[in-house]
Amino acid sequence: MANFQTHITFSSLVGVGYGAAGHVYGNMPPTTSVLAGGLCGLAGMLPDVDSDSSVPLRETLAIASALVPMLMMDHFVRWGLTHEAMVLAAACIYIIIRFGLGEMLRRYTVHRGMWHSLPAAAIAGLLVLALTSEEDAARRLFKAGAVMAGYLSHLFLDQLYGLRTGRGAIGSPLKLWRNDAWANTSTYLKLGVLAAWAAADPQLMDYVGLQDTAVHALARDLFDYLRTRYGGGTVVG
Ligand SMILES: [Zn+2]
Repeated sequence: MANFQTHITFSSLVGVGYGAAGHVYGNMPPTTSVLAGGLCGLAGMLPDVDSDSSVPLRETLAIASALVPMLMMDHFVRWGLTHEAMVLAAACIYIIIRFGLGEMLRRYTVHRGMWHSLPAAAIAGLLVLALTSEEDAARRLFKAGAVMAGYLSHLFLDQLYGLRTGRGAIGSPLKLWRNDAWANTSTYLKLGVLAAWAAADPQLMDYVGLQDTAVHALARDLFDYLRTRYGGGTVVG
């Protein structure tokens, strides 16, 4: 298995290429390209949150707890939070991720379980789409793609090292499921909820030309219903 440094080095290189390609071929602004490259580099450690060693988990939680509030800045602005409220919200998210999520991961994950799988990479990308809400759908997709690229670079390296050391057969990291019904259900449930969330997003669906489809209408109605039923009736977007 590739170690922490190898993963970070490889995903950072992928990130540099990804950011540069986005800038040159995709007309992404320099700041977006640099940010996406950085996200890709950091995402290279995400799958190892299930690691038995505490370093990857600790580092990932530290970075995620700082990064998530930054990605959510547009949400904060849209919700009309004052600067002080934004600082408070960021602090709360930091504590929830650093301690709440950390404790959950320590208790419930198995190393190289479903965190090392293709649906998990898709979950990471969809999570970025859910966290970001700026006006430009292309930039959101670009950042989500960056996180997926970093995530996949990790799975790819693990697979490569597994093949070299002859241990690739023990649960390939490029898998779609494993022999654990509960882990599979939980993974695909997360994937389903996040995919429905993205399908309900009018800005995204407009960008990919799916705004008039039944899937979008169904997802939108579902979340509208949930919002009016449980969220106090405020419909966003
Ligand atoms: Zn790994």
